Amino acid sequence: MQTINHPLSAEHGPVSYQLTSHHFGSKGGRKAYIQASLHADEVPAMLVAHCLRERLQLLDQQGKVKGEVILVPAANPIGLGQVINERPFGRYDLSTGINFNRNYPHYAPQLKERLAGKLGADADSNVRLIREQLRELTAAWQPASDNAVLKKALLSMAIDADIVLDLHCDLEAVLHIYAGTPLREAIGPLAVLMQSHATLYTTAAGGEPFDEACSRLWWDLAAHFGPSVPIPPANIAATVELRGEVSVDYDTARADAEGILRYLSLQGVIELPAFDMPAAISEPTPLEGTERIDAPHAGMLVYLRELGERLKAGDPVADLIDPFTGAKTTLRTSVDGVFFTRLSHRYVIRGMNVAKVAGAIPFRSGNLLSL
Ligand SMILES: [Zn+2]
Repeated sequence: MQTINHPLSAEHGPVSYQLTSHHFGSKGGRKAYIQASLHADEVPAMLVAHCLRERLQLLDQQGKVKGEVILVPAANPIGLGQVINERPFGRYDLSTGINFNRNYPHYAPQLKERLAGKLGADADSNVRLIREQLRELTAAWQPASDNAVLKKALLSMAIDADIVLDLHCDLEAVLHIYAGTPLREAIGPLAVLMQSHATLYTTAAGGEPFDEACSRLWWDLAAHFGPSVPIPPANIAATVELRGEVSVDYDTARADAEGILRYLSLQGVIELPAFDMPAAISEPTPLEGTERIDAPHAGMLVYLRELGERLKAGDPVADLIDPFTGAKTTLRTSVDGVFFTRLSHRYVIRGMNVAKVAGAIPFRSGNLLSL
């Protein structure tokens, strides 16, 4: 294992941040990039990374890392330093208000210009050429803030990988996964190994999250250059939501790490003893079919259903009670699907998202992610 510390801060600042990455195996084979907790205080992801580091170190010593694995065990040191009134605050950069997992560069427009007339009929050569350009474009980025330096450091390690796993968690949730529609087949075994309750696909979620910065350009380029220029979705990127923010225990983290390692072995990055695939516990669904149930008014929130339950359209999900008058509104799902996320606090103001239900029929468009 080689450990690299990436300085993030300029000289003469009042604080100095650095990012740590661990590198296993060697360049040349298939490359996997795994980062934990881009939203800083999402501890389940960091604990899984901690388990992965131990396992990968051992596998590396045994010569079982056939390709290259980069593990970033805590992807957001800036956010880890943000605390408000004793509560960690890692989702948004306090200096800009911007979500740490948004506004990553989408390189497809530049690549369409740079690669005009240069790609051919051989998919492997096309992938090589596109990756060369991606490395150049990322290296040319001139970040002007610590936050942008962090984004550049993370993306530089992931942009030319075969597999990118961005490990997060939600507030209260069952395990779920976000990925691009063209990756549906490639992500399928990961969803099964991780026992994903909802695997949500779209070609563009909006907001430019990290996984899409790595993956979406591939199908954008394929559509642009047409069928005579084969361009596979060569970066299998997914955002894995490792349940809720307090789903922190060793057994779960070890099992999650094992699921990820098994996926890397199926992808030819590492070598593991043979194992049986478990049965899938859900079918993938389009992100456009996920219903967000928002609070129509402020109130006390009392959930009526448990996470992971399959709901029918019209089923009650939660009651919202006005504490002053006692008036009660029952919030219902309008889709058939899996109840997969909910809030971790129980008083809400108008407009807050209180639940998400993964339905199979697309009905939403535009920006599909939370802010
Ligand atoms: Zn997150």
